[in-house]
Amino acid sequence: MASLSAGHSESVSGVPAEWSGTTAQGAEAAVAVQQAAGSDPYFPEHGDARYRVHRYELALDYRPGPNRLAGTARINAIAGRSPLTEFTLNLSDFKIGRVRVDGRQPHYTHRGGRLRIRPAKPIRGGAAFTVEVHWSGNPKPVASPWGGLGWEELEDGALVASQPIGAPSWYPCNDRPADKASYQISVTTPSAYAVVAGGRLLTRTTKASTTTWVYEQSAPTSSYLVGLAVGKFQTVLLGDPGPGGVPQHGHIPAHLLPEFSRDFARQPQMMDLFQELFGLYPFGEYAVLVTDEELDVPVEAQGLSLFGANHVDGARGSERLVAHELAHQWFGNSVSIADWRHIWLNEGFAKYAEWLWSERSGGRTAQQLAASAHRLLSSQPQDLRLADPGRKSMFDDRLYERGGLTVHAVRCALGDDAFFRMLRAWVGLHRSGAVTTAMFTAHVNRFADEPLDDLFAAWVYGTSLPALPAQIPARPAHPPTNAESA
Ligand SMILES: [Zn+2]
Repeated sequence: MASLSAGHSESVSGVPAEWSGTTAQGAEAAVAVQQAAGSDPYFPEHGDARYRVHRYELALDYRPGPNRLAGTARINAIAGRSPLTEFTLNLSDFKIGRVRVDGRQPHYTHRGGRLRIRPAKPIRGGAAFTVEVHWSGNPKPVASPWGGLGWEELEDGALVASQPIGAPSWYPCNDRPADKASYQISVTTPSAYAVVAGGRLLTRTTKASTTTWVYEQSAPTSSYLVGLAVGKFQTVLLGDPGPGGVPQHGHIPAHLLPEFSRDFARQPQMMDLFQELFGLYPFGEYAVLVTDEELDVPVEAQGLSLFGANHVDGARGSERLVAHELAHQWFGNSVSIADWRHIWLNEGFAKYAEWLWSERSGGRTAQQLAASAHRLLSSQPQDLRLADPGRKSMFDDRLYERGGLTVHAVRCALGDDAFFRMLRAWVGLHRSGAVTTAMFTAHVNRFADEPLDDLFAAWVYGTSLPALPAQIPARPAHPPTNAESA
């Protein structure tokens, strides 16, 4: 763990040396975009900014007993402005079979989780190209400071939760959050098992003793957000989506069904609330999956969230996490981050969505929850900077709490009317895109009577804990409806 974190704390970006409002923000935005175009400052070995992928077609064969995976990927990509003499995909230590670039055999090396490919002929700048890779082996998680990430063999099946760098544990990818692509995933496995992936189930075909499940995720998806589970589940529909509604399915071990039915009963109401507050749900469907094992924390994927058996108790003990994971579909999945320095834009909003759900469902108000978070943070070290927490601290609890508080501070400064208009505009403008902290602060300022630069300097770019924001000014008792959105 130490060696993985070493040498990392001084990330290059930074607080503008002198904070001078929009000019500094503009400068930082330029730096942010430039760096987003290079390798990720936190994970320089992941992703290749010289090209982007627009579609992955993955055909996998998986045998749970021996934990044996064989796959074929067909990757449609586009070269950046410069000609590509070589490019890199991230893929763990598998046996590589065939590799082709536009049908021709390239030269390649596969070392340290990177498949470096030199096409027979350089690819012209801006040209579309297709990569085909065959691989096989026993998938295992990618080691990280947060434990194993990605493909995990379970007692009876497998589960994939990749945030932030676990995707190469099971398929070759351009592993950076800003490179978003559509996916078709076909998994063949013994018929006793079900396969759950994010997106729409297109077909399920049984032949002899195996079944092939084909899922399509047409919305642009970051590589780490491709979720998958192989196991024995009971599938239920949550609520009645009605015409035009979002179908919400649950996949759970049969023995947890009674608890699950109570714990997730209010998710359809959350869906309604979040669509009212954030704008339309960004994907075609939503599913939650409960694995029979314990997970430290639930994990979001595109159109899918993964929970552990420990998050189901029949007493709604983890309901705030049900809200948190659902909110990630807007914040993190549809509106993604340009690189991992900006992770508070995912977690701060998901945290704040917990508070909004509590407030609107008869629980404690956002102001009360903000006060608790503030008390908690004031007793802890104040050396974490939201805008660029460093790789070591990107999943620090303080980032979540301070992120939620920062969103609350923005709400208190703007008032409910402007705040929720700002939020829906943010989600609408950046749907399927990727954002930075500087883009967010500039966006908020468009909804403020006066620039909120001091607020951002203190909450986002500073480390010491600012005072708890004052109570939300008395404005309309509830946020405006979608009809009034910006
Ligand atoms: Zn989260």
